[in-house]
Amino acid sequence: MTFHVVGYYLVNLLLYAFLPATEVEGVKLTSGGRLKYKLNGTSSWYLAAGTRLTTAVFVGCMAILAVAVGGTLKKGADFVLWTYIDDNYLHIVSANIMVAFALATFVYIHSFGYKPGNPESRELAPGGATGNMIYDWFIGRELNPRVTLPIIGELDIKEFCELRPGLLGWSLINFAWVAKQYRNYGFVTDSIVFVSGVQFLYMVDGWYNEAAVLTTMDLTTDGFGFMLAFGDLGWLPFVYTTTARYLSIYPHSLGPIGSVGLLVLLSTGLYIFRASNSQKDTFRRNPDDPSVAHLECIQTKRGTKLLVTGWWGVARHINYLGDWIQATSYCLPSGMAGYLILAAGTEAEGSVKMADGREVVQGAAKGWGMVFTFFYMVYMGVLLFHRDLRDDEMCFLKYGDDWLEYKRRVKYRIIPYIY
Ligand code: NDP
Repeated sequence: MTFHVVGYYLVNLLLYAFLPATEVEGVKLTSGGRLKYKLNGTSSWYLAAGTRLTTAVFVGCMAILAVAVGGTLKKGADFVLWTYIDDNYLHIVSANIMVAFALATFVYIHSFGYKPGNPESRELAPGGATGNMIYDWFIGRELNPRVTLPIIGELDIKEFCELRPGLLGWSLINFAWVAKQYRNYGFVTDSIVFVSGVQFLYMVDGWYNEAAVLTTMDLTTDGFGFMLAFGDLGWLPFVYTTTARYLSIYPHSLGPIGSVGLLVLLSTGLYIFRASNSQKDTFRRNPDDPSVAHLECIQTKRGTKLLVTGWWGVARHINYLGDWIQATSYCLPSGMAGYLILAAGTEAEGSVKMADGREVVQGAAKGWGMVFTFFYMVYMGVLLFHRDLRDDEMCFLKYGDDWLEYKRRVKYRIIPYIY
């Protein structure tokens, strides 16, 4: 099993190495200089003039999805990829956690190759090099660990893990649950199509806007240790797919009004999330870009500027609000979750029959399943709330009085007029 999971990582690495890519510079490092990143998540090419050309058909991770689509067209819900994920789910989770452990240990040891002021632009993460071995292993000692591998070439481990194997795994696992629902019932519900479809969009959005990850906290501030390795590889693809996993057993339907309502909610969240993140990303790359040049900003003593109008003038982390609204729309499709599985022939009132004859009914379990299916929404709320506090602290350290001035001008943290 671990062998198969490692094979999956190798395929991702080969796609990374051989697909057409463009080289983009990251943000300025505190030691000076900028690292170059090879981006090919959606196989976008940037012309010398700076115009972005995106191929009509996404290759990159899409190549793996194309295999999945081909297999499904041929074999339907019984395509081996879907049955494999279902049959070996816990093994796959464990193997990915083991990969995260191994990777965190590798980068921890590798970080001792760092030499202050060396020409490779290697940096230790602020807060990740305390000297406490367990803590540094967990938080991440080096900011941008990189390795040069045979065939693959230079690899930025953190950027690769942030956007490739885990994100793709998220969608593949969702699709495996869609196939399972079909095997169980002979139909797929609007709820599972919605949740797997919009989460797929979130992932494609991440690939399409791959360059935007370079200005996020994960890339600019956090070291790469167990926390990020586990988050990207062992947590995200498995926890975020809980709603689809639930629906593969209990086929809750949304109906037309529910579907439209959820689409409106999701679109609102996606719009706030994408527009605010892109605005900051564009501004950080080129403050004179025509789309952001008209915005007001504070010139800080540190050299960079802070936006005070536009999205970043509405709330200091309005992007988190967009993310949380999306998280909510991922959980709602499971409804008042909870089910009981009854033996074949029970003929319980309101039950739905599975292909093997067993019956599924909500009964006394109704509502209790929400502890699991709404976990993502609560977890994201806590994560983003804590992230905001952490970023606030770090920005104060970076910007001092200029940050206080920004806070004076932009009062709300995440939700305008409320928080
Ligand atoms: P942000 O993208 O919000 O980046 C914060 C940084 O932006 C600050 O440290 C500062 O860095 C810069 N900044 C802050 N205010 C301003 C301003 N007014 N003008 C210009 N620059 C400013 O943080 P994250 O990296 O936490 O989040 C990125 C996205 O990823 C978010 O949308 C978040 O919701 C999402 N996310 C999703 C997760 C998931 O599991 N789905 C997990 C975590 C995040 P500097 O000044 O140094 O450039």
